[in-house]
Amino acid sequence: MPELPDLEVAKHTLTRRATNRTIEEVELFDPVTLRRPVAEAFQYELQGRKIQEIQRYGKFLILLFEPPARLYINFMLVGHLAFQPPSDRIMKSTGFRLRLSGNIDLRYHDGRRMGKIYLLLNDEPTSLIPTYDEQGPDALDPELTLETFRSRIRKFNAQIKRVLKNQRFIAGIGNAYANEILYKAHINPFRKRSTLTPTEIDALYTATKAVLKNAITTITTLSGNNLRFKIRDFLQVHGKSGQPCPRCKTKLSTVKSGLDLAYFCRKCQV
Ligand SMILES: [Zn+2]
Repeated sequence: MPELPDLEVAKHTLTRRATNRTIEEVELFDPVTLRRPVAEAFQYELQGRKIQEIQRYGKFLILLFEPPARLYINFMLVGHLAFQPPSDRIMKSTGFRLRLSGNIDLRYHDGRRMGKIYLLLNDEPTSLIPTYDEQGPDALDPELTLETFRSRIRKFNAQIKRVLKNQRFIAGIGNAYANEILYKAHINPFRKRSTLTPTEIDALYTATKAVLKNAITTITTLSGNNLRFKIRDFLQVHGKSGQPCPRCKTKLSTVKSGLDLAYFCRKCQV
């Protein structure tokens, strides 16, 4: 699932390559991921609008148009966007395509059809998007200070990895980056939040900001001018089953937890 760093880089790429282009044609191939409005309105309403700005909040990417409308995309497991020549074959996974001025398609693909897409017109409120308004501050919001982080985390008592992934606590972190942040902070993913010392909470805050920022820098370099939604090879522990811990060389552990896999080092994450 794309997480904050993937989407932040995608935001910058889209800003460079898609803003100020007009949507000349809209084709919706698979209405399953479209939560709002109905298919006919989606095509009719988007056509002719200009892409004005790209934003991101948590795990939502937001396209802003002129005349005013906003498209919110929550990519879930495998959803992603791609720039393609209009002549490219339409795939089974293609959800919709926006043919942009300058003869380029911006296409949404989703092989699992789990993404969620919402088009809001004029000043329709985000309360029309389930759970959107319940999100906590974006994990990279400068206003998420250490003080705020400390006071917010007190309200969550689950295992610390679940807390990090809870979008109501802070928004943007999923399984991959929760694994990375906990590794950086030397904290075992299965600890209960209430057992963490103030020093560990502070380390978690520092690790959160550092891991996300470093990932953005790395993904920016690796993706160049292309839209890439899931570059994960450079991560330290996520997906590295059985490999040695980069710090202490102990074999990394993988434990299934709900639908997710926790990757961690039993020796240096206590
Ligand atoms: Zn280790």
